[in-house]
Amino acid sequence: MYAGGGNLIVLLGPPGAGKGTQAVRLSATLGIPAISTGEMLRRECESGSVLGKVVQDVLNSGQLVSDDLMNRVIASRLRECDCENGCILDGYPRTVSQARFLDRLLKEANLPRPIVFDFQVETDEVVERLNMRGRTDDKPRTIRERLKVYRQNASKLVRYYSGKQYYRIRAGGTPEEVSGTLLRILSCQP
Ligand code: ADP
Repeated sequence: MYAGGGNLIVLLGPPGAGKGTQAVRLSATLGIPAISTGEMLRRECESGSVLGKVVQDVLNSGQLVSDDLMNRVIASRLRECDCENGCILDGYPRTVSQARFLDRLLKEANLPRPIVFDFQVETDEVVERLNMRGRTDDKPRTIRERLKVYRQNASKLVRYYSGKQYYRIRAGGTPEEVSGTLLRILSCQP
């Protein structure tokens, strides 16, 4: 389990906001793993397992996988030893119930709450980026559904985190600019 002494960083924001890109950049700079729940789910689908087949249908629909499944996946991933100095969570939590679960996990381990970066980007820009990326769940209908699902949860998640270590980030700039902003904020943390 994440043993503290480092950062547990949560990246929030719509699909296509550049969370994955920033997670990888931060991981290289800070030397802690980037954990993408979307990637973990896609790997499960590729494995051809029974669970993978169920998950694939959910991904194609643009809906979310159940909180219960995601919470179990994250709890076991955070227990792996590469997370002992922290990690970057890209795509989790996505609902208030997941955020509460994460806080409970951290509290049980006597660890501080996560630092949350909420990526702000225009919808037009997001749709353009997703259209260019061309992943199998990046079809126009699925994109629209994912954005809708994101918006349904986003305001509640923001309410849950605001007032805590919560930072809104302008994510429309270049990857270098956005990384610079994130690292500046991290360097001011106690
Ligand atoms: P994006 O942020 O571009 O939508 P991700 O790779 O983060 O893509 O996620 C792809 C899909 O994986 C989501 O649309 C959702 O179905 C599923 N998923 C990923 N993370 C979670 C999560 N924390 N809770 C529920 N479903 C998730």
